[in-house]
Amino acid sequence: DLGNRGLFGLQIPESYGGLGLNHRDTVAILQQLSAIDVSLATLVFLHNTNGLRPILNFGSEEMKSQLLPGLAAGRQLAAFALSEPVAGSNIGAIQTKAIREAKSGWQLSGEKRWNGSSWAGVVTVIAREYDADGTSHGVSAFLVRQGTPGLKVGEESLTLGMRAIVQNSLQLDHVSADPASQLGTTGGGWKVVNDALSVGRLMTAAVCLGGTKRAAQLLFRYAGVREIASGKLIDHPHTRQRLAEITSQI
Ligand SMILES: Cc1cc2nc3c(=O)[nH]c(=O)nc-3n(C[C@H](O)[C@H](O)[C@H](O)COP(=O)(O)OP(=O)(O)OC[C@H]3O[C@@H](n4cnc5c(N)ncnc54)[C@H](O)[C@@H]3O)c2cc1C
Repeated sequence: DLGNRGLFGLQIPESYGGLGLNHRDTVAILQQLSAIDVSLATLVFLHNTNGLRPILNFGSEEMKSQLLPGLAAGRQLAAFALSEPVAGSNIGAIQTKAIREAKSGWQLSGEKRWNGSSWAGVVTVIAREYDADGTSHGVSAFLVRQGTPGLKVGEESLTLGMRAIVQNSLQLDHVSADPASQLGTTGGGWKVVNDALSVGRLMTAAVCLGGTKRAAQLLFRYAGVREIASGKLIDHPHTRQRLAEITSQI
């Protein structure tokens, strides 16, 4: 299965039970996987990049040694909750709040949307951090565990054909986050976001490319066997031109 073959820990160092792959090898694997199933490849890429990078690059050593071996083996998944009803393309508009409490950490409240695998075992939540008196500390990131009181997986956002990965809303109603759950520093949330999204964009491209190459392969295969009045479809000048255009664009 995918977990036993290491697909849920592609870039996690071997010391934590992952494969420790570089971007080049990861891109090659995602292309191949998406040639088989784009939706499954999206599940794998979202867990590996948006899900795991915040923990790997911004989590404490204790958090990493506790969580990464199980996550790399696919025993539980990691999700990333940034988008909100009014903050999609414009992520600067997020409204989820993390209100600091005296010593016990934060209370997170707000609504996230379009989060792939929202039901995952651990979720990185991006929120605006404030003191109880309203003083702002910028945007911060927190790791929330599924089952924490106040965290509720909401409605599914329906997609066309994305059957292996479900996008849900996520409601946070005074969800407690203790000091050990902070990823990075206070006000350092955009660093966590940029790290996940920049690599996420590369992996999205790999998934799209793999699916597109496979579609082109099927076009060639079909044109090679389809007989039309003038002979094989692939020998028709118009078909050859169309296939050449498609291939050169890939
Ligand atoms: C399969 C899938 C998985 C996802 N997984 C996650 C996830 O794991 N975590 C997460 O946080 N989010 C996730 N998302 C959400 C994704 O990041 C958002 O869908 C994306 O940011 C776009 O936001 P939106 O859908 O609200 O579109 P909108 O922001 O409403 O944009 C709609 C269209 O309007 C255009 N537009 C918007 N504003 C402007 C402007 N000012 N000027 C010009 N054009 C504009 C956009 O380019 C777009 O074409 C996922 C989405 C999908 C489809």
